[in-house]
Amino acid sequence: MTGAVKSTLHDSESALVAVRDLKKHFPMRRRFASEGADHIKAVDGVSFDIPAGRTLGLVGESGSGKTTVGRSILRLIEPTAGEILFDDVNVLALRGRALRGVRRQMQMVFQDPVASLNPRMTAAEIVGEGLQVHRVARGRDLRERVAGLMRRVGLSADDMDGYPHVFSGGQRQRIGIARAIALDPRFIVCDEPVSALDVSVRLQILNLLDDLRRERGLACLLITHDLTVVRRFCDDVAVMYFGRIVETGSAENIFANPRHPYTKALLSAVPVPDPDSRTRRFVLPGEVPDPLNPPSGCPFHPRCPFAVDRCRTDIPDLISWSGAAPRHRTACHYADQDLPLPVTVSAP
Ligand code: SF4
Repeated sequence: MTGAVKSTLHDSESALVAVRDLKKHFPMRRRFASEGADHIKAVDGVSFDIPAGRTLGLVGESGSGKTTVGRSILRLIEPTAGEILFDDVNVLALRGRALRGVRRQMQMVFQDPVASLNPRMTAAEIVGEGLQVHRVARGRDLRERVAGLMRRVGLSADDMDGYPHVFSGGQRQRIGIARAIALDPRFIVCDEPVSALDVSVRLQILNLLDDLRRERGLACLLITHDLTVVRRFCDDVAVMYFGRIVETGSAENIFANPRHPYTKALLSAVPVPDPDSRTRRFVLPGEVPDPLNPPSGCPFHPRCPFAVDRCRTDIPDLISWSGAAPRHRTACHYADQDLPLPVTVSAP
C-alpha cells in the first residue's frame, strides 16, 4: 500500500476513490505530427474525489474525455500520468494479484449492452464469470448466487440459460448490472448506462442503479451527457471540456449557480416544463476544438461569448472564487462576475 497522497480537495480523507492529475495522451502517427501536436490530450490533468456512498456525475459533450477518464480509472486503458487512489492505494502502481484484488472492487456498467455481452455465453455464464474467475463460488452455490443476482436486477431465474440475443435492450443492461455487482464491488463506473436504451426503460434502469448504490453504499461515477439524469441521481458534478474539468461542486450548487459559461450553456439546453424558461436558451457556437490544433489559453475561448485577450493567452485554473459555496470551483478568469449568457434562441 502506498501512503495517502495529500490533496487540496476538502474531503480527500473520506474519499474512497481519489483521482489526482490524471492524464491520458494518445500519440499521433508521424504524418499528423508535422501538423501540430504530436499527442492528443484526451484527458489532461483531471482530479476529483468520490466518497463511499456518493455519486459524481461527469458531464460534457462527446469528445470531452469523460469516457477516457472512466476507463483509465479501471485501467481498461493505461493512463499516461497521475494517480488513482482506491482506499489510499495507488491503483496505477499495482500488478498481478494485488491489481486483481482491487479490480474486483471496481466494476463498470457499459453504454452498449449488446456489445458488452458475449453472444456465445448464457446470462448465467456472463453474470457468474467473475464469481468463477475469483473462485468465490462454483457448482450449485454459483448457480444459486447467479439466480439471486438475476432476481435482484428484475430478471427471473428462468432467464439464466438465455443468450443475449433473446433479451430486450433493457434486459441486457440488467444482465450487465448483475455482472457488475456480482463480486460486491465498492465502486462502480456507469458509462452512459441508458443512452442506448429506449426512452421507456431508461428511468427503470437508472432507478435500479440508484437503488443498488444506496443499499450497498457504492461510490459511483456516472458518465453522461444528460444533465436531467445528473440532476436527479448525482450528489456532485464535474463538467469536462476538452480533457479538463472546467467546473465542479455539489449538484445543488452547480444547478443553482453555474459560473462557467460552458456549464451555463449546457444547463440552458436542458428542457424544462415551463415553456417561458426556454426563451433563455443559449446555443453554443462551433464545436469542441480540434485536438491536433488545441487553442491557446482557455480552451473554451473560441466558443465563449465573454472571451477577451487574456482568455487567449492564460489558461484559467480550477479554483474557488469570491462567494463560492464550499467545493464549488470553476476554471474561468471571470467566475466571480456571474456573466449572463446572451439569448440566441427563442421558445418555439
Ligand atoms: Fe470564457 Fe475567458 Fe472564462 Fe474561458 S476564461 S470561459 S474564454 S471568460
